[in-house]
Amino acid sequence: FMVSAAPIFGKNGRVQGTTVVFNDITEIKKLEQMRKDFVANVSHELKTPLTSIKGFAETLLDGAQDVPEIREQFLNIIHDESERMQTLVEDLLELSRLEQDNYQLETTIVDVTSLLHETATLLQRKATEKQMTIHLETEEEVFIRADLNRLKQVVVNLVANALNYTPNGGNVWISLEDGEEAVMLRIKDDGIGIHPKEMQRIFERFYRVDKARSRNSGGTGLGLAIVKHIIDLHHGTIDVESEENQGTTFTIRLPKKG
Ligand code: ADP
Repeated sequence: FMVSAAPIFGKNGRVQGTTVVFNDITEIKKLEQMRKDFVANVSHELKTPLTSIKGFAETLLDGAQDVPEIREQFLNIIHDESERMQTLVEDLLELSRLEQDNYQLETTIVDVTSLLHETATLLQRKATEKQMTIHLETEEEVFIRADLNRLKQVVVNLVANALNYTPNGGNVWISLEDGEEAVMLRIKDDGIGIHPKEMQRIFERFYRVDKARSRNSGGTGLGLAIVKHIIDLHHGTIDVESEENQGTTFTIRLPKKG
């Protein structure tokens, strides 16, 4: 609590009493802490690839560039690490745009079924690399009012996660259910699952259950935070059910009117 006190003066100018105000600052403190954590996280996430880029570039300049195989290997690392930084910066910019008070969705009538087919096609190569199968269970045509590009981002993020957090040979199911007022979109996998303790936190910025695994798969830890924002902007809901080593299901409910 923050306590402040002020005297109350009577007509004659004498102090007649005191007002004491108690302000609950736990919420303010919490927000302040979140902001500090965020800055610390961003700095750390940017510093790691930067240190490696600088280190490999210096080693190249110190003579390693004379050995062709080493040169190629180091240049590849520098390239991959710069790509990591780029993805991170793009995700940060996207998150900051979505958080603006005056952010406006660009809504049109979206054919959700074809959006799901496009996503499956886009991620098919990644699935094939891991010998995984993407199963599409969609109805004929389902239309809702939504922001096409933002919604695509949601589905791509969730399907990419399903592929990332499922061992080779696993499955991803994408299904769509049409209702009177809303549609239900489900992305399910038979992967590593999420411990109940972690379930509430996965939508937080930079929260990852396993940092190393997330990094190796190119994750920034911002994907689900972006997803949650986009769903909120559409007045929808997103829920997660999961069992460790059994799999995870994300269920999105989107009102048809957007
Ligand atoms: P990341 O870039 O790390 O994938 P996300 O915000 O997309 O970041 O996800 C946050 C964390 O939630 C991931 O690091 C992972 O630990 C967990 N997670 C997300 N999707 C799944 C899934 N389908 N199965 C298991 N864990 C998941």
